[in-house]
Amino acid sequence: MKRVITGGDVFVDGRRRRLDIVVNGESIEALVTPGSGPTDADVIDATGLVAIPGGVDVHVHTREPGYTHKEDLITVSRAAAAGGYTTIFGMPNLDPPTMTAEDLDSVLEMYNEKCIVDYNHNPAAKLVDQIPAMAERGIAAYKIYMVVDTGRTYPHPAAIGVHDHGELLRAMEAVARTGLRLMVHPHDQAIMDVVEQAFWAKGDRSPAAYGKTLATGDGIIWDTATATLLRLAEATGCKLHIVHAQTIRQIEMFKQARARGVDVTAETNHWALFLGRMSDIEEQGSYVLSYMVPDHHREAVWEAMADGTINMLSSDHAPHTREEKEVGWTDAWAAHTGTPGIQEQLPLMINAMHEGHITLDRLVDLVSTAPAQVFGLLKKGSLAPGSDADIALLDLDKVWTITNEGVQSKIGWTPYDGREVKGAVAHTMVRGTDVWANGAVVGEPGHGRFVRSEGHL
Ligand SMILES: [Zn+2]
Repeated sequence: MKRVITGGDVFVDGRRRRLDIVVNGESIEALVTPGSGPTDADVIDATGLVAIPGGVDVHVHTREPGYTHKEDLITVSRAAAAGGYTTIFGMPNLDPPTMTAEDLDSVLEMYNEKCIVDYNHNPAAKLVDQIPAMAERGIAAYKIYMVVDTGRTYPHPAAIGVHDHGELLRAMEAVARTGLRLMVHPHDQAIMDVVEQAFWAKGDRSPAAYGKTLATGDGIIWDTATATLLRLAEATGCKLHIVHAQTIRQIEMFKQARARGVDVTAETNHWALFLGRMSDIEEQGSYVLSYMVPDHHREAVWEAMADGTINMLSSDHAPHTREEKEVGWTDAWAAHTGTPGIQEQLPLMINAMHEGHITLDRLVDLVSTAPAQVFGLLKKGSLAPGSDADIALLDLDKVWTITNEGVQSKIGWTPYDGREVKGAVAHTMVRGTDVWANGAVVGEPGHGRFVRSEGHL
């Protein structure tokens, strides 16, 4: 069956053009001059909309298995569809955490049954002897958390944290042999320990203290870890992907490392752009995460996203129940860390585009093209003929208010409740099938398919 998306603009080859898209089955067959497509096709009216390649979000906390009271693979993929994301990569901090090839097979079976959008999964690079077998499954990357939390077991279960430099070295050597990329949450636990203990000694466990701990020394917890990781990547030849990039010195280090030939990519996340002010933390407490990103760093991050030093924007979608967040008002260290956002990230970015922070060209690259290319998804991230028909139709000028009522995620709340934005996702399709249309999720669980990475090539 053929479908024609007509009447709107198409973002292709780095610019916006007035074209129709001809979809044949699961693929984009052609981009044609308006009105010249097949006449017997199913027609999608895209008048006033802009088609971009569907988002590829390589950092999503799906919560299944183990934490399905927060989210599951059906609800997370509903949120993805509503947010214009057509491919998601899940994270390994599950129960059981994904550490072995067997764990990986079992979690991939769950996606196969339930996921509405296409998917891959990032297992933990914790057990070195498991690393080669997991690569054979077609994964795109491994994940390491340098967080070895003091006093809590979630979201970084002690079993999967890696902070010891020797252990990092061995893991990176093993990942380097697979040719795949290692995603790392950079974090200097030793510095975190002394700084947080100073707040605790004063009896201050507030969200503000938590935010100040993470931002201490203008970002040393992030920067010292990043410096170590880059040096280890250089020594081992391991391809590195730094998550949560958010400081000026990290950005400088990425540039310097690349100049020396280190293969490092970086992502930032919606919360660093839209929720990282101390005022956000004071107003919403643990609901906003609550990592503080001072304004001078945020400005540098926007610049680095504009010039490509930060390659991509991932949601780090991290749903928790209100109960798990409420406790943060009296003890931010007892609240589960992370905040949801896969559904709101694209509208927020379009709004930021209108405010002059980013161009449409860069936005499409950050949310779709770059993650597909970096992680070796050859048929994703582009609207060129032959690509999968993964398409988000954007209404760039729609002004609307984000509300808890509109949340598809199981938790039923968003840190952006009440925020007015200009920009919306009108329609999402995964391999030619609608998953989000007319304000409703229409995709069926099980439609999503494993996207094999060719990232080792
Ligand atoms: Zn995360």
